[in-house]
Amino acid sequence: MTPGRTRKRVAYHEAGHAVACVLLRIPVVHVTIRPDRWGLGALRWGDVTRLRIPGMRGVSGVARVRAIRERLAMMALAGPVAQGILVGHFAVWCCCGDRRFAHRQLAPFSRTEEELANHVLNLESRASKILRGARVWAAVERVADALLESETLNSSQVRKIISCRH
Ligand SMILES: [Zn+2]
Repeated sequence: MTPGRTRKRVAYHEAGHAVACVLLRIPVVHVTIRPDRWGLGALRWGDVTRLRIPGMRGVSGVARVRAIRERLAMMALAGPVAQGILVGHFAVWCCCGDRRFAHRQLAPFSRTEEELANHVLNLESRASKILRGARVWAAVERVADALLESETLNSSQVRKIISCRH
């Protein structure tokens, strides 16, 4: 099993992904802090092709693909962001898988490396602003606690934990 302090960090990291998913309407299949050969935790999401994006009804083509990709990138960045909020600092070298994923999502919509880097940074600070909201952060904490207790949560468990208010 993953040692205690790391396990807590992983729980907040995965909880950040999970809460971002729900806020961005990306369907969660499950989220886990059970380590496997791919990593210390994981979130699996479902089909995003039918994602309902506020203000984008009737919009299709590149604009819609871009909006979906931005949401996926933001969801990926929400993991390292939540982990950073928990430990009090951001380590750029950590969570490189998530950052690589975000870059891959946005690369087709950026003309230069600099534009791509700014795009990622921009979404990262948006994710940070959202997660730092008191109610949202309380939801991250509840999901992290539930992960520390149960290790794996399915879609309806995640939604129930996030929507309940204490
Ligand atoms: Zn992650």
